[in-house]
Amino acid sequence: MSNTFKTEAIVLRKLRYGEADSILHLFTREQGRVGAIAKGVRRSRSRFGGRLEPFFRLELMLHEGRGELVTVTAAETLDGYPRLREHAESLNAAGKVADFVLRLLDGRERNEPAFNLLMNMLSLLDEDPTASRSEVSLAFRAKMLLAAGFSPELGNCVQCGATDGIVAFSPSAGGVVCGDCREPGDFEFSRRAHEFLNVAIGSPLAQAPDAAIEDLRQVDRAVSETLGHHAQVRVRPVI
Ligand SMILES: [Zn+2]
Repeated sequence: MSNTFKTEAIVLRKLRYGEADSILHLFTREQGRVGAIAKGVRRSRSRFGGRLEPFFRLELMLHEGRGELVTVTAAETLDGYPRLREHAESLNAAGKVADFVLRLLDGRERNEPAFNLLMNMLSLLDEDPTASRSEVSLAFRAKMLLAAGFSPELGNCVQCGATDGIVAFSPSAGGVVCGDCREPGDFEFSRRAHEFLNVAIGSPLAQAPDAAIEDLRQVDRAVSETLGHHAQVRVRPVI
């Protein structure tokens, strides 16, 4: 049986290792999160060239040995998203995207919706510098929550089922709540924040609607605290 397999992967993070090697945190289409070692990659004449860098989407040959890390044996670039690196805001947004995925999806299991969403987000940041705005970053996070199985209840009050009178968000209950069901620990959630989240989840990333900063802060908090309660994951706020 061959221990070498081919996969499509996006580099989330690269760490120096030893004199010339690097450790790569990858998100792969076929197996989710995979840790890899690339030997000799930091030598000037490395056969990998400058491909094994954060945010590159690659086709990799990976060798599975006895250790926890797989070894990169070959790499081809599918997309390097070069324009993303020309704008500080786009690069910064891509860094937050990678950090979010690193924290949220740490298991070696296939999650193709998450992979496609990550790929779409990097493409968008590459094509359009305005995609670095907070609305798109929050839409990405909301959709990623869905892909990871932690989507909050947004249709009705998560406690009593009421559709009217939604005033707050309950991180512990995992959704919006009405005035009668609001408890300590729940925080104000405006009609506009609620609407933003609904539209953002249901639309392509590029069409994330504009919203006021105070509403976006509430959405940011809803995403972060939902993950804190239900996924035991701490994420940095977007705003
Ligand atoms: Zn209620």
